[in-house]
Amino acid sequence: MIGIAARHLQNLRRRDFLAGNALIDGRWIASDERDSVVDPATGEGIAEVARCNPTHMDLAIAAAERSFQAWRGLLPTQRGAILRCWASLMNEHSEELAILITSEQGKPLDEARYEIKYGAGFLEWFAAEGERAYGETIPSHKEGSLLQVRMQPIGPAAAITPWNFPVAMITRKAGAALAAGCPIIVKPAPETPLSALALARLAEEAGVPRGVVQVLVGDPIDLSTPLLRDPRIRALSFTGSTEVGRLLLEGAAKTVKKVSLELGGHAPFLVFDDVDLGKVVKGVVAAKFATSGQDCLAANRIYVQKGVYAAFVEALGRAVAQLRLGHGLESATEIGPMTKLSVANKCRAQIDDAVKKGARAISASRGVAMGPNFVPPTLLSDVTEDMLIAREETFGPVAAVLPFDSEEEVIARANASEMGLAAYIYTDSLRRALRLSEQIEYGMVGVNTASFTGPPIPFGGWKQSGLGREGSRHGLAEFMELKYVCFGDL
Ligand code: NAD
Repeated sequence: MIGIAARHLQNLRRRDFLAGNALIDGRWIASDERDSVVDPATGEGIAEVARCNPTHMDLAIAAAERSFQAWRGLLPTQRGAILRCWASLMNEHSEELAILITSEQGKPLDEARYEIKYGAGFLEWFAAEGERAYGETIPSHKEGSLLQVRMQPIGPAAAITPWNFPVAMITRKAGAALAAGCPIIVKPAPETPLSALALARLAEEAGVPRGVVQVLVGDPIDLSTPLLRDPRIRALSFTGSTEVGRLLLEGAAKTVKKVSLELGGHAPFLVFDDVDLGKVVKGVVAAKFATSGQDCLAANRIYVQKGVYAAFVEALGRAVAQLRLGHGLESATEIGPMTKLSVANKCRAQIDDAVKKGARAISASRGVAMGPNFVPPTLLSDVTEDMLIAREETFGPVAAVLPFDSEEEVIARANASEMGLAAYIYTDSLRRALRLSEQIEYGMVGVNTASFTGPPIPFGGWKQSGLGREGSRHGLAEFMELKYVCFGDL
């Protein structure tokens, strides 16, 4: 019997979204070597994609280099018009793209639809920001001279992207690169290549010239090695694990590329006893269970002040128990499968470890786990710092709750991590919110909100959560060089 994802994919109007070939130098390249794409909910094979090799990547690098001068030579408004057209094609094909995302990544269809809108938003936003890549004129320290700083495109760029947001993590990088005047080669995660290839088809339709956006799927080391060693690739933007980020940073050192890294998180979520618990629980559910917890912004350590601890655990337990597990393409589903079995196994190991060491677990039992990639949404209370879940990122639908006494104690515990991506503070005291938002060592802080991302904000982390920023004018700057020019003898 044919599975639910295959049935939905059979009905796609755009059959070319399933062709699975790579886009290199304006041509769709097939390969005798092909890899299967699997529905993570059922394990069913849903498509095949061409497996590219280092020779393909060399061709792509040469094509990116060839396309660079013409692309940078366009006016920012001309590049912006193409980016806007790409975004509008994404919105036009939103339903089909969402089905692709859910089929290969697993998230509920509504979340996939949201990702298309969110992802297209980066193209629209950078279309305009490219027109504002202003330089500076510096008041001169020398008589008869004029000092200018210009922003210029850095050159051909590469993006290595993850599977948790298979569309938005591409447009966040490609929007900035293209607006800056740089061609980009995208190597998507092997788990979610169909969304990436579909985006490339729409880029082509939008009028992105040959060689300016290229997508190659294949073994990560086979494809990243040529990118790292080739001096023509001037910038590398990566989203994924801290472990791989370190390797890429080391590899990029050989050709001194500009590297931006969005790596793991371990977000603390601080709940003080002056808050409205109803609002906080809503915030925690949003910050923990969206994308089944496979989000680097996900609340990983929920610290709750002792005065409201018992009431909070009870209220969150009720909310968690209501969450429904299932296939992302079924409309009642709120929690889909983990995209990777290894991530599901890590969640299970963290739950077992915590329970063995004295944590209490409440798991949802609604819906159906269709296979081993499903992890039921789980609340772990009475978590202590010696448990694995308090020390490492979960990346799944497991909410760890830890009690605390004082503000001084909790800020020290929140900051005692090598990660520094996102943090959340819920309090009714403005003074405390100002004080803690200053003291907390994280790149992004939500005060009384669990939702703060979007194209205008500088997305990125401190410490081992990354380098550089995406989105915002800072994200554009990752693909640009500064040039200082001194005019003398005026
Ligand atoms: P990963 O780092 O292994 O994969 C991310 C990307 O890197 C994929 O495209 C993958 O093919 C590529 N890659 C993997 N090994 C590589 C190598 N040696 N050289 C070059 N490229 C390589 O991520 P994962 O293991 O699939 O995910 C697990 C962890 O990654 C999560 O627990 C989370 O911490 C982190 N993660 C973070 C984000 C984020 O948004 N910051 C997204 C996804 C994963």
